[in-house]
Amino acid sequence: MNLGLFSGKKKYATLTVSSLEKEEPKKIEGNKEKEDKDLDKFQLWDKCPNCNEIIYIEDVKENNQICPKCNNYFKMSAKERIALLIDDGTFVEEDAKITATNPLNFPGYTEKLRSAREKTELNDGVISGTGKMNGVDVSIGAMDFSFMGGSMGAVVGEKLTRVIERGIEKKIPVVIVSTSGGARMHEGISSLMQMAKTSAALDKLRSNRLPFISIPVNPTTGGVTASFAMLGDVIITEPKALIGFAGPRVIEQTIKQKLPEGFQKSEFLLEHGMVDIIAKREELKDVVTRVIKNLMNI
Ligand SMILES: [Zn+2]
Repeated sequence: MNLGLFSGKKKYATLTVSSLEKEEPKKIEGNKEKEDKDLDKFQLWDKCPNCNEIIYIEDVKENNQICPKCNNYFKMSAKERIALLIDDGTFVEEDAKITATNPLNFPGYTEKLRSAREKTELNDGVISGTGKMNGVDVSIGAMDFSFMGGSMGAVVGEKLTRVIERGIEKKIPVVIVSTSGGARMHEGISSLMQMAKTSAALDKLRSNRLPFISIPVNPTTGGVTASFAMLGDVIITEPKALIGFAGPRVIEQTIKQKLPEGFQKSEFLLEHGMVDIIAKREELKDVVTRVIKNLMNI
């Protein structure tokens, strides 16, 4: 027997611990949610990122997601937005079951959709329907930033287009609360098409002489700003909201210049004519209603 067969060089490579570590899946980049300071709404207590005070999450919820200590605005979910703006018991949800597919077989997209659905209990990043706002009928859509950064894919675009078409059909004003990181790159060109689609639908609304109240809230960027969010007959936002196309850091890096103080924040945008009204969250519903009544002569 030739024992030499069992000695000598190994015929296979052994994975060392460090090479195993390299095999770990890379985190998907571009998750803007993490960059944005917000509370962990699954905890009982958290530290306010603005004033550093410890706050009870339940108190924040009851206070319309505003810090009770320093008045800092946290993000509201689409459901909370509907509850904030629409009269109790009048909201009728539409198109709740439309779901996205993965037409380009974009790696990881199906899994991302699944976890976003579990986390938000929504099928996609917008809730839409009709309801009454201080007694006035409106067709409304509210985006949810926790669903993949409020990105606009084919489902978000389709649902918002239907919000606008429902306004035309029922001859009622359209209200859209947007918050978005932009187009959903996982759907490629079809997500970009939503910009043209929503804009064309708004043109139809305009020919029907019905108002569109756009409410971009913190943060609204990318393709959503570049399409329907800036096409409101009246654009209303909240204090200190970031609204822009590219983020301030990207712009600074590109133009290699320091941006002015408060650039892309509501107050700056109001001064420069990009938005029409800044309303405090607790007054938002009344402000929107007043604007609609004025525009509709009711
Ligand atoms: Zn605070």
